[in-house]
Amino acid sequence: MSALPNCPQCQSAFTYEDGLLYVCPECAHEWPQAAPAAAEEESKVWRDANGNELKDGDSVTVIKDLKIKGSSSVVKVGTKVKNIRLIDGDHDIDCKIDGIGAMQLKSEFVKKA
Ligand SMILES: [Zn+2]
Repeated sequence: MSALPNCPQCQSAFTYEDGLLYVCPECAHEWPQAAPAAAEEESKVWRDANGNELKDGDSVTVIKDLKIKGSSSVVKVGTKVKNIRLIDGDHDIDCKIDGIGAMQLKSEFVKKA
């Protein structure tokens, strides 16, 4: 619902929108429309070991041998990982590694390829 706010000056409920302003027809008060309720959250930035910004779809290189939990496999240093997906969490990169499958990495252990 996009109910219009009451006039902050006289509490009139008959405000209307005029461009980027709200206008009160009763006291002629005009004021800027507030930012949308669903204001953009401060966007999180993922950075690799060198501080470069990472984006969905980037390719990265693993910079240290990483043991895979629950298996004897190791992601070797230098492994190239294509098409990463950034996620929230302790391990903040979701990806698929050739020969290993889907797994999650920490951005601090990769660098942008
Ligand atoms: Zn008013």
